Amino acid sequence: MANVVVLGAGLSGTIMAYELVPQLRKGDRLSLIGQGPRYHFVPSNPWVAVGWREAKDISIDLPDVMARKHINYFRRAPSACTRPTTGSSWRTAAPSPTTTW
Ligand SMILES: Cc1cc2nc3c(=O)[nH]c(=O)nc-3n(C[C@H](O)[C@H](O)[C@H](O)COP(=O)(O)OP(=O)(O)OC[C@H]3O[C@@H](n4cnc5c(N)ncnc54)[C@H](O)[C@@H]3O)c2cc1C
Repeated sequence: MANVVVLGAGLSGTIMAYELVPQLRKGDRLSLIGQGPRYHFVPSNPWVAVGWREAKDISIDLPDVMARKHINYFRRAPSACTRPTTGSSWRTAAPSPTTTW
């Protein structure tokens, strides 16, 4: 049994998660981790800026949509990852009280 995690629920991450669904074996788990409850289609941002669409027209509710594909969706506060003051690598801090899993 594999526990597959896709980090980042943007254009790449959401498509990656969808592409992985047919690859899963019985008992495998697939999780997608993002920063908020909604996905918005970045290339359509200018439509909102010029008033051709409203923000709700170019966004979807991630937990609902992912649940339909049996993908577990988790959102994590951006503050959970912090850049160290020395060295070059990133580290993960202890989850803050605002972290939502
Ligand atoms: C106006 C505009 C028009 C565009 N038009 C096109 C087009 O026509 N065709 C095309 O191919 N491309 C287009 N692009 C480019 C395309 O939108 C981007 O290449 C694409 O969105 C990049 O996807 P991504 O998943 O790599 O990054 P993103 O979409 O930025 O996704 C990254 C995700 O990771 C999440 N994340 C970041 N840090 C964390 C963390 N610590 N924990 C959890 N989640 C985290 C973010 O919240 C985000 O949801 C356009 C871009 C713009 C701005």
